[in-house]
Amino acid sequence: MTVLVTGGAGYIGSHMVLELIDAGESVVVLDNLSTGFRWAVPDEVPLVVGDFGDEALVSKLIAERGISAIIHFAAKIVVPESVSDPLGYYLNNTAKARNLIACAVAGGVKNFIFSSTAAVYGEPQQNPVTESESLKPINPYGRSKWFVEMMLEDTAKATDLRYVVLRYFNVAGADPKGRTGQSTANATHLIKVAVQTALGQRAGMEVFGTDYPTPDGSCLRDYIHVTDLVRAHMDALRHLRTGGDSLTCNAGYQRGFSVLDVIKVVKDVSGRDFPVKLSGRRAGDPAAIVASNARIKSVLNWQPKHDDLPSIVRQALDWERRLHNRKLAG
Ligand code: UDP
Repeated sequence: MTVLVTGGAGYIGSHMVLELIDAGESVVVLDNLSTGFRWAVPDEVPLVVGDFGDEALVSKLIAERGISAIIHFAAKIVVPESVSDPLGYYLNNTAKARNLIACAVAGGVKNFIFSSTAAVYGEPQQNPVTESESLKPINPYGRSKWFVEMMLEDTAKATDLRYVVLRYFNVAGADPKGRTGQSTANATHLIKVAVQTALGQRAGMEVFGTDYPTPDGSCLRDYIHVTDLVRAHMDALRHLRTGGDSLTCNAGYQRGFSVLDVIKVVKDVSGRDFPVKLSGRRAGDPAAIVASNARIKSVLNWQPKHDDLPSIVRQALDWERRLHNRKLAG
């Protein structure tokens, strides 16, 4: 009954591993440490350093460790980078995921949970967006994940693999107990950038686009606390283990904040003012995207507990300070 977590040394994956071991689960992490950290994996959890697209390695792992479920986080996740390096994204996020799914099927792993993204919707016709909205991703990142959704759907029809696809909205915050958080070097995500700027680690920050058709002209996003997100995976795992059907769900709070809203909250919570430059649009960004969460609440009985932007920001700030002290300590 061991759960294989790919990308378990990364931001969301490391929160998942803590949630699983807190629940008494047996866990193995597979991570190539390209953006993750060895220290982010608790000592009692085996860490295999390697590539999730390496079929020989993954097949051996599945057989030797008795893997019964895979939670697949490892991916490239930066929208503008996907625009400049599409083939890198299709290799890592799509082609290698195909190998991982093939290993799951060959190794008899029946339960698969996949980290998809709101980017599969592109610029939705309606917000909050429901899972039945037609998918029209507007960047290679979204398309690289959509292919995997399709592979899972087709594979589940042809084999006895079952899956839950979770379409993440904007994941933020950190473990409330301070054990892990967003630690990626050169992170580009809004809350991380704003928090680093508030702490003086960056001289200033930019708002990418103030001419969008939104109330204040900056982009609207649905920011979900990482702890609520990993709980959704626990709910998904229970669903699959108890015989639930394959399923695709949004993971978000059904609430949008603009980039300017977020920066204001970061200034308020940190008590620091900092320079913000209003800049042009960033490649690949949709104007507004907010989750409908009716399905995840009804089918998985997901109950979010951290739907509060100031708390998300406070925990992100706390984590950034810890990370800074860790770096100073060498
Ligand atoms: N953003 C910004 N300044 C930054 C980082 C992000 O204005 O330094 C904007 C970005 O253009 C987008 C929103 O914040 O409109 C969320 O971007 P992020 O990269 O956090 O997540 P994404 O929605 O791209 O997955």
